[in-house]
Amino acid sequence: MRPLTFNTPAGPLEYTITHRARVRKRLHLELDERGGLVIVAPEHWSDKHISATLSQNRRRVERFLATASQRQLKPLQYVQGELHYYLGERYPLMIHAAPGPKTKVAFGQQEICINISRNKETDIRARLQGWYCHRAKQVFNERLQLIAQRASWAAGRPIPLKLRKMKRTWGNCSSIGVIKLNTHLIKAPLPIIDSVIAHELCHLEEMNHGRAFYLLLEGLNPNWRRDRSVLRSQGFVYLLI
Ligand SMILES: [Zn+2]
Repeated sequence: MRPLTFNTPAGPLEYTITHRARVRKRLHLELDERGGLVIVAPEHWSDKHISATLSQNRRRVERFLATASQRQLKPLQYVQGELHYYLGERYPLMIHAAPGPKTKVAFGQQEICINISRNKETDIRARLQGWYCHRAKQVFNERLQLIAQRASWAAGRPIPLKLRKMKRTWGNCSSIGVIKLNTHLIKAPLPIIDSVIAHELCHLEEMNHGRAFYLLLEGLNPNWRRDRSVLRSQGFVYLLI
């Protein structure tokens, strides 16, 4: 087995090749015991042919890796010190016992502090979700205003923004021009949040994903391919609750 790499918009991806007689027509994808990507190829396929086929099937590889990593993830437990995402970084939860019924969540640059009277998983989860919603509203609105300034077609028009916790989509734009963003996106890095906002802003002008749409998107975010690839391969970690 030889380690090789192929380029994805999110960066180079390492893999090893193994040949198996019973694999005849297409590549099989597997993970080794350390979580590395293994490409199982028909016996007569050359490295060059495998590499070309992988590049053509990038979406399939990204989906495979996302699903495989998802299966390995444990559900969140909302305990002291557990790491939670915020704007692309992971911060430990610091849970403090508060005497009264008043709960407070505060971000301290190094950690997410929760002052709560009952150290109960459901309560802590609810508080943290509330804090994420609050932060998401503020950050998404700010970013939307900022990016919309560069979108000539959005100039001078109010852009209604709604937040929803969604399981499969990061954002959408209705035919009447309401942009909806997934609250969980607040856990992603700012450039990724911006890329989803830029995408939806382009839908205000072009509803379909045609050539005209991608021309607009290219102008607002030249890195849209890389950002989309990052969300597809790593975005699932932001959906955990
Ligand atoms: Zn779209």
